[in-house]
Amino acid sequence: MQRPTETIDERDLERELLRKGVGALRATTRQCADCGRTPLVGEHVHTFPRGELVCELCRPLRRTSPVESEIVRHSERGLTVRVTQRAA
Ligand SMILES: [Zn+2]
Repeated sequence: MQRPTETIDERDLERELLRKGVGALRATTRQCADCGRTPLVGEHVHTFPRGELVCELCRPLRRTSPVESEIVRHSERGLTVRVTQRAA
């Protein structure tokens, strides 16, 4: 007995792949606890005592000092290939 095969339109496939890619990207990025914006690469972000991440623009609105401040790195940082030994 042959199973009916499901066919998917090329546009539907592209749309579904794009949707999955955007969802995966959103899952790995962090957003500002106050404005909901995703901080840009190179921007300073601040972590407050409850673990809230606050962007550079919202930082002056807080009365307390952050526990930690860091620069947002590119998502591919550390994944690049480095030449460690040159061939003769
Ligand atoms: Zn913000």
